[in-house]
Amino acid sequence: MNYVTHSFGGVAAGLAVIAAASVTDPVQQTALMTGAVLGSLFPDIDHRKSWIAHKAPIAANIMAGLFKHRGAIHTPVFVLIVGAALGLLNWGWLREFNYLAAYFIQGFIPGMISHLILDTLNVQGIMWLWPISDKRFHILRIRTNSAMEAVVCMVLGACLYGQYTKIF
Ligand SMILES: [Zn+2]
Repeated sequence: MNYVTHSFGGVAAGLAVIAAASVTDPVQQTALMTGAVLGSLFPDIDHRKSWIAHKAPIAANIMAGLFKHRGAIHTPVFVLIVGAALGLLNWGWLREFNYLAAYFIQGFIPGMISHLILDTLNVQGIMWLWPISDKRFHILRIRTNSAMEAVVCMVLGACLYGQYTKIF
C-alpha cells in the first residue's frame, strides 16, 4: 500500500487507542496520533523509494541494505522488538525527558500493526509467522497504487471521517 493508505490506517489505529484508553487531553491525543501515523509509515523504512525513506534517507539506506522489502521489518516479531526497545527507552530515559513519549509509543506500535494488516491486503502479503515460517499471507490481491487500492483508501477515509465526527 502507498503512504496515504498507510497513514489512514495509522489514524484509524490512533483513534481506536484514544477511544479504548479514554485519552481526553488534546495534547496527549496529539502525541498519540503523531506516534500512530509515524508508526504506520515506519515499516516501509526497508524500501528506499518509500515516503519514510525520503524523510530518513540514512536510516532507510542502512535498513534497505540489511533487509529485503516486506521481509523481517514487516513482521509481528519486529513490531515486538520495536515495542520492547521503545518501552525500555521510555522507562530508562524518555519519560524523564518528556511525559508525552509514553503516549507517542502507545500510538506508534498500533500504527505499525495497522501497516502489517494493510499490507496483508496486497498480493505480495507479509510473513506473519516469521521466523518460524517464510510463508507469506495475504487476504486480498490488491496491487500497490492500483485502482483497488484507491477504493480501499477512500473507504478507509470515509470510515475515519465518520469516526472522527463521533469522537470529537
Ligand atoms: Zn509495507
